[in-house]
Amino acid sequence: MTDTPSFDERFDAIIVGAGFAGMYMLHSLRARGMRVRVIEAAGGVGGTWYWNRYPGARCDVVSVDYSFSFSEEIQQAWTWTEKYAAQPEILRYAEFVADTLDLRRDMQFDTRVESMIYDDAAATWSVTTDAGDHYVSRFCIMATGCLSIPKDPDIPGLSSFDGPVYFTSRWPHEPIAFGGKTVGLIGTGSSGIQVAPEIAQEADRLFVFQRTPSFTLPARNTPLPASFVEEVKGAYSARRQKARRHPAGHLRPITDRKTFSYEPHERRSAFDGAWESGGLDLFGVFGDLVVDEAANDEVAQMIHRKIEETVADPTTAAALKPTGNPLGGRRVCLDTDYYAMFNRENVTLVDVLKDPIETVVPDGIRTRDGHYKIDALVLATGFDAMTGALLKIDIRGRQGLSLRDKWAHGPVTYLGIAVEGFPNLFTITGPGSPSVLTNVIASIEQHVEWLSDLIDHMDKRALKTVEADAQAEEAWVRHVYDMAAPTLMMKANSWYLGANVPGKPRVFMPYVGGLNVYRDKAQSIADDGYRGFHFEGNERSSQASAKTETLGR
Ligand code: NAP
Repeated sequence: MTDTPSFDERFDAIIVGAGFAGMYMLHSLRARGMRVRVIEAAGGVGGTWYWNRYPGARCDVVSVDYSFSFSEEIQQAWTWTEKYAAQPEILRYAEFVADTLDLRRDMQFDTRVESMIYDDAAATWSVTTDAGDHYVSRFCIMATGCLSIPKDPDIPGLSSFDGPVYFTSRWPHEPIAFGGKTVGLIGTGSSGIQVAPEIAQEADRLFVFQRTPSFTLPARNTPLPASFVEEVKGAYSARRQKARRHPAGHLRPITDRKTFSYEPHERRSAFDGAWESGGLDLFGVFGDLVVDEAANDEVAQMIHRKIEETVADPTTAAALKPTGNPLGGRRVCLDTDYYAMFNRENVTLVDVLKDPIETVVPDGIRTRDGHYKIDALVLATGFDAMTGALLKIDIRGRQGLSLRDKWAHGPVTYLGIAVEGFPNLFTITGPGSPSVLTNVIASIEQHVEWLSDLIDHMDKRALKTVEADAQAEEAWVRHVYDMAAPTLMMKANSWYLGANVPGKPRVFMPYVGGLNVYRDKAQSIADDGYRGFHFEGNERSSQASAKTETLGR
């Protein structure tokens, strides 16, 4: 960690966030000779994998793909041990990358950015932090993550609870002893579904408070045989090339084959096969699940059947069946023994759709019909996704325009990377880009490389600022909507739509067109001299300007 300076400093770029996006952006800009500071709220690198260290936390993209492709040295030196890596291994990987590239010397940890104000006359950003720093920078790059700000759980009486409350998204660093305890878990999205079976193994008793049942598929995680890892490493660059051309940015199976092109018995056996092989293989069998309601419904019924076959108690099984939201409309979860967990004597599902939580009380949770005494409460209640981290900071662009005002009716961006009125400020995997619908590391790499090229373009031409045009932004926002509109994703109450946060504008935020399509569009915009952006000139290059104006350090 670098010392916090007591005086103002100037940088070519300030990057907010030391997750995978901030790490690669720093590396890329530093390679260009730029003076860069990364500001990070956490005590270390890793972003989401720093915070979400709850037992069972595991990625749903296979490990050999959920990793940086830009460095042959790193991908050869690191060895993944499981098909789907668990949080500790991913965090170790992030730390390994930081060590290998010597990233920490330009990172300031335990510091939150509070405001970023654009100075029209100087064409620079003033950045203040909760540590009292005041920095000036030419570029600001928001590597703040899509799922980094926990949603306010909004549960009455929460502060009255006598026992400990643990958020999956802010899990303590020391192990929690649940042995002999009765635990209440609220939230059954990806995080709740992963943490529950782990707690169930240790706690005396676990009450799972479920509001909306999620679709979850068996991950079928497994250790990676050394021969497989060797094979991947032997042809890594070819594998990465394929991933770059894949809509999801990793080699998960996909197909154009339509559900009803199979005979009924074939559909069933194809479904059973995908269920047995695990992960997201289902989407590699039925290619129209997010657009064809009848296909979606049929496969949902098949998942319901699996729930009935697995969960012994019929009332519990019925409550676990997702209805009302199409399969894939909300993020599909991957689990390890989630449904089977409900056959344990110490686990009880509380269906809070039928019996709503009224209030948390000092010794537990009171629902309309019951009182559940608990010793510890675990909240897996989700995030203010995609915009939360950006709007938490007071960002003001040209003539004091506030990002909060500009996005009052939902986020508007050009390519999910730039916002009209906010020159030289970029959002890595921002709303309007494929981000959360892909292997996010692949999306991060595409954004970092595209932005680095843009900065090269500006420096070669002595251009001082770049800003999205209003018309280009408007057209992109419309395109993002047009791509999502025909899909069933628009019919679900999901965080993709902001539906999980009361009062949040209902706008579909990620780009559903696929990372490959998006990559081509972004490249053609660059090839066209950055169509839809305008630049303002400067006699000096960015590197030269910051080097001469640097005040200290
Ligand atoms: P989430 O999917 O938004 O789930 C939050 C859960 O909390 C929902 O079940 C929600 O119920 C419930 N909830 C929220 N407020 C509540 C309240 N006041 N009373 C009762 N229930 C309440 O959040 P998440 O599980 O943290 O996952 C978020 C995203 O992170 C995932 O979709 C995924 O993209 C990512 N993630 C990925 C992995 C992985 O790679 N395997 C693991 C964890 C997370 P309602 O739906 O009824 O609101």
